[in-house]
Amino acid sequence: MVETLPLYYDGRSQPAPAGVSLLTLNTPATGQPYAQVPLCDAATVGQVVRSAQAAFPAWRATPVAERARVLFRYRQVLEAEAENLARIVSHDHGKTLADAKGEVQRGIEVVEFACGMPSLMQGASVDGVARGIDCRSIRQPLGVCAGIVPFNFPVMVPMWMFPVAIAAGNAFVLKPSERVPRAALRLAEMFREAGLPPGVFNVVHGAREAVDALLEHPAVRAVSFVGSEPVAREIYRKAGQHGKRVQALSGAKNHLVVMPDADLAKTVEGIMGGAYGSAGERCMAVSVVVAVGAAGDALVDRLKETAAALKVGPGSEAGAEMGPLISAEHKARVAGYIAQGQAQQARLVLDGRQHPRAKGPGQFLGPTLFDHVTADMTIYREEIFGPVLSVVRAETLDEAIALVNGSPFGNGAAIFTSSGAAARQFQDEVTAGMVGVNVSVPVPLAFFPFAGWKNSFFGDLHAHGKDGVAFYTETKVVTSRWFSGDGPGGKNMTIALR
Ligand code: NAD
Repeated sequence: MVETLPLYYDGRSQPAPAGVSLLTLNTPATGQPYAQVPLCDAATVGQVVRSAQAAFPAWRATPVAERARVLFRYRQVLEAEAENLARIVSHDHGKTLADAKGEVQRGIEVVEFACGMPSLMQGASVDGVARGIDCRSIRQPLGVCAGIVPFNFPVMVPMWMFPVAIAAGNAFVLKPSERVPRAALRLAEMFREAGLPPGVFNVVHGAREAVDALLEHPAVRAVSFVGSEPVAREIYRKAGQHGKRVQALSGAKNHLVVMPDADLAKTVEGIMGGAYGSAGERCMAVSVVVAVGAAGDALVDRLKETAAALKVGPGSEAGAEMGPLISAEHKARVAGYIAQGQAQQARLVLDGRQHPRAKGPGQFLGPTLFDHVTADMTIYREEIFGPVLSVVRAETLDEAIALVNGSPFGNGAAIFTSSGAAARQFQDEVTAGMVGVNVSVPVPLAFFPFAGWKNSFFGDLHAHGKDGVAFYTETKVVTSRWFSGDGPGGKNMTIALR
């Protein structure tokens, strides 16, 4: 018997409700079951939201500097527990321990950002906007906010959301991915250890039914979603329909353009991490390399040689550079894309299905490389979310930029070059939300906002940075006059302030 995971609300772990359906979770590196997660219904979601509702008034009334102090302590607890948290992530997701530690670090950076909430929440004020009248804008928390997150970053993506929301004075309900739900529970416990009052941060498990319950719940004021494109569209539509503030970060197909003047060795190093890090299960993964002009042949040779030498193995294994995929179903899906690439006449340079680890146990696939991919092929158009890299050839930078801009997605885009002029043209013209110049995975730090353009994002305000603060607060403008005898007397029957 494997353990059944609890929920987290009212400041403690709570047993899964009786009779709820359970999903079995398997270790990606072995295929063996390790836990069951309850898939909660609307009634349970309602109970968890009530916990957040009850906690909100007192938390909102807690001075912002005191709230920030809880965040400071949370940072300390997280630092002390970072290794254990990374082990949970590496085990449950499959990514290497080093990569999982990097993910935890990126989450902690958002907490550090949120520690600055007393400054971040500052409004503006102008005295004397009319005779004896002052005007100021203030930021206030919304109430109960919800986060719905994907499987590929069990720590970092939830932490794009709840530290900022909570530091701003909101209560939060997190619905982690039902495929990697354990890390969220640990994040909740640690926040409590740091002094967060019960009910301010809660975790409810589930899939579509739980998500719909959050979207429909009248007490939920704002929804932050990160996940695949079809679901992001649906969440954006439904949340809007129910009158909620919503940000929905979505799928991607990230291009990396290589100019003939790029440093070949450094470019290949960058592409390895970008394309095959976390087995390609990143929304900022490099999925397409656009080789410009003479860059192509030497680049493909070097990519093949370097990718073939990557060490594939369980995330906990010393020296492992790439772990397994999340599940057997996902591995079959990615292998299906490789077969489609072959069927559509792309040149298969390196076939991850032939990797010795791909025979099992576990959900491993080796690094895969296609050359001479064209924009009409399925492997070019669809997000694969696995260790499959496509190389497309282009004659000029203009042609490469047109290709990037023709993609319906616009999460990240990168250029490798030693030409400042090429880099400037690229960053100016490319239609993507996050751009790298000789940086293959340009994930912004917490004090900048994170999100893509086009079909990679539905909403207005991006995640974390100043956008995050704006998303989790609403602005109120106060216009005040204190009668002192020197203001204009008499009635004012006009809209003008005087
Ligand atoms: P997913 O869309 O399957 O699931 C995301 C969340 O939505 C999960 O919590 C899941 O339970 C819920 N969900 C799934 N189907 C639903 C439905 N029909 N109705 C309501 N809720 C539903 O995504 P995933 O496979 O877990 O994650 C991978 C995807 O996430 C990729 O497409 C990746 O690009 C994307 N992603 C995007 C970003 C970004 O910042 N743009 C970051 C990370 C991941």
